[in-house]
Amino acid sequence: MAGILVFVEQRDGEIRKASLQALGEAARQAAGPGWPVAAVLVGPGDAASLGTWGATTVYHAEGADFAQYSAEGYAAAVVAAAEKAQPTAIFFAGTAMGRDLAPRTASRLGVGGLADVTGLKLEGEGFVARRPVYSGKAFATVDAAGKRPQIISLRPNVFAANETGGTAEVVALTGLTPTIRAKVAEVIASGGGELDVAEADVVVSGGRGIKGPENFALIRELAKAVGGAVGASRAVVDAGWIEHSHQVGQTGKVVSPTLYVACGISGAIQHLAGMNSSKCIVAINKDPDAPIFKVADYGVVGDLFQVIPPMVEEIKKLG
Ligand SMILES: Cc1cc2nc3c(=O)[nH]c(=O)nc-3n(C[C@H](O)[C@H](O)[C@H](O)COP(=O)(O)OP(=O)(O)OC[C@H]3O[C@@H](n4cnc5c(N)ncnc54)[C@H](O)[C@@H]3O)c2cc1C
Repeated sequence: MAGILVFVEQRDGEIRKASLQALGEAARQAAGPGWPVAAVLVGPGDAASLGTWGATTVYHAEGADFAQYSAEGYAAAVVAAAEKAQPTAIFFAGTAMGRDLAPRTASRLGVGGLADVTGLKLEGEGFVARRPVYSGKAFATVDAAGKRPQIISLRPNVFAANETGGTAEVVALTGLTPTIRAKVAEVIASGGGELDVAEADVVVSGGRGIKGPENFALIRELAKAVGGAVGASRAVVDAGWIEHSHQVGQTGKVVSPTLYVACGISGAIQHLAGMNSSKCIVAINKDPDAPIFKVADYGVVGDLFQVIPPMVEEIKKLG
């Protein structure tokens, strides 16, 4: 059999946007050869609703073993779905969970994995993928040594979700008894329910140029005006000005929003690695030679304390 299976991530039963994007790309890729697109949902969530986003079959594993994420339990469910669907490729969203689960699934199936993919091309019976390397300085074209299914994680916000309005058959995955050695006891949300930078369409980030933690109020004000999430450079996270969950970059989160606004951020290669696939980049920096301007679509050379307040006022006027 051929086809694509997509692991669909949920948080407290709510389907994550990055997974719908993976499903959208699966449906687009499968349309050419006429392959079926299946999804596997593990834990609570509306499995049937995934038909609207391109899946024709949804394998659903529910129950106490799957109420909280565990790599062992979730990998067992994905492998069980793969045994039924016999796909050519299994797609994951490249979120923290996807990046944990995809290699484990690959190892369970004895196949290779392609991570953080930003472009896909179907060649014959499998995919050739494009992925950024050297912190986004270059792109590599990669295959998975001919083994199937190919395990592929897709960078969030690069591929578009597609509401097809279709319907899906839901198949319950029953009789699974995974051995789960490490269990999640409790999940404590960080960031006071703030929008996650990895999911947001707009990200406004602050760096060392904001001078102190109290000035994140200005960044938050701009983020609020444009309906975005608050991001940060590592320098300010290391300084304890904001939590690590906001960090964008090589050792933080990789984001690809429609709009990324960098305020007082120099544009070190490790920061660029996390945001240079954003669709539109705006930089505000008082140093005209700051490297961030090399990747920016629009640049404001100036003191952010002078630039941001009138910007917020003007945006507010737009309603
Ligand atoms: C292994 C490794 C991993 C790393 N991972 C990451 C990562 O994930 N994310 C990350 O961000 N960094 C990462 N770094 C750190 C990175 O190299 C930089 O040190 C960091 O990004 C710098 O942060 P910054 O731009 O906020 O600070 P700086 O480099 O100090 O830049 C501050 C900028 O603010 C500007 N500025 C100052 N005052 C104003 C003002 N009033 N108005 C406007 N502009 C102003 C300055 O001109 C300057 O360009 C990593 C480093 C290593 C070695």
